Amino acid sequence: MALTGIQIFKLLPKTNCKECGVPTCLAFAMNLASGKAELDSCPYVSDEAKEQLAEASAPPIRPVKIGKGVRAFTTGGETVQYRHEKTFYNQTTLAAMVSSDISDADLAAKLTTWNAFQFERVGLNLRPELVALKDANGDAAAFAAKAKTIAETSEFNLILMSDSAEAMQAAVEVAGFKRPLLYAATEANLEACGEMAKAADLPLAVKADSVEALVPLTEKLIEMGLKDIVIDPGSREIKKALEDQIVIRRAALKNGNRAIGFPTITFPCEMASNLDMESLIASMFIAKYGGIVVLSDFSGDALFPLLLERLNIYTDPQRPMTVTEGIYEVNNPDENSPVMVTTNFALTYFIVSGEIEGSRVPAYLLIKDSEGLSVMTAWAAGKFAGDDVGMFVKKSGIMDKVKHTELIIPGYAAAIAGDVEEELPGWTITVGPREAAHIPGFLKSR
Ligand code: SF4
Repeated sequence: MALTGIQIFKLLPKTNCKECGVPTCLAFAMNLASGKAELDSCPYVSDEAKEQLAEASAPPIRPVKIGKGVRAFTTGGETVQYRHEKTFYNQTTLAAMVSSDISDADLAAKLTTWNAFQFERVGLNLRPELVALKDANGDAAAFAAKAKTIAETSEFNLILMSDSAEAMQAAVEVAGFKRPLLYAATEANLEACGEMAKAADLPLAVKADSVEALVPLTEKLIEMGLKDIVIDPGSREIKKALEDQIVIRRAALKNGNRAIGFPTITFPCEMASNLDMESLIASMFIAKYGGIVVLSDFSGDALFPLLLERLNIYTDPQRPMTVTEGIYEVNNPDENSPVMVTTNFALTYFIVSGEIEGSRVPAYLLIKDSEGLSVMTAWAAGKFAGDDVGMFVKKSGIMDKVKHTELIIPGYAAAIAGDVEEELPGWTITVGPREAAHIPGFLKSR
């Protein structure tokens, strides 16, 4: 069970040295208890206290690391039921299923197609993470061969799905280096699967016929020393599956039930007969509260909206996405190129820079830190005031890059033109378009 702030305080050094960033050990203890601080922030906790505190301050849903390389991920680790309470941390990961009896050529073609599903949005690469390899017929050699191909020839990480201990062991030997998730331990094979996962230090999924039936299984695995567990309550009917996800999340967060405090794996591919319906179900699990979602295939038109939904849900609502303050060069500008300025709200930056890029007019784009607010909001909040913008332009170093003295400000911030001019004597302040879509026409007409 989680410790209270006072219980945590008793285990801290009580020197109030402030190195953790708050004025007192008591304040740090309170933050730790409410999940607002990390234990590592205090360098003076004794090893003994650390052990007790690590357990007590561990997230109620264990974070589980799966995979290696650029598509490795952590699932679980959530601390709130609703995103608006704080944030969700580890996004739902997406898998597509492939059967071990697929031909080599078809597997290669699928991996190439799936690998191409990568979408750039707000500076992020949105892409799926996993291939779920399903043992078609207990042929250990074929299962291992396909696992090896996926592990060695693609960036994708793996879920190895087999009832055969022999097939699973063979696949672990050739693909274990990619830290695959083993699916699944059940009541019938719990110990053998647990031993295999433990020996190979791999995450293990456990499947039961209900949430209640999961509890003795996870308890047994925990007793065996396994920590990296993913749970499947077995429900494949939409309403029941959603209820189970909610029950698991609530039990872990509100009741502190550690036996089901693990990320979940869900199977829309076993709940629908076509990819459209699967995608709808997947979108439900992205919202509530699937850790891993397995589809029967990836197709661009189904995947893209799921990735965007995931991006929206797993973006911290308390922290707008930002880009770094500074000078951004678009289309290889030179000393005569126009200079534009805007705020550091990521969406603003990507829309404006995209429009400049599309215009093919070389330009400098100055991004001023406005705490992630858009132009109008930043201006209204005093984060994009004329004198600040003027000072920022002076300090930015742009004056060493251009030999003209003209600054283009956003149309929505026209009111700051006078103050910018005062701060930048001798400069011409030009008011640009209000809408980013009009930037290409504006630049080309100059
Ligand atoms: S760093 Fe540790 S000892 Fe120092 S104030 Fe914070 S909790 Fe207390």
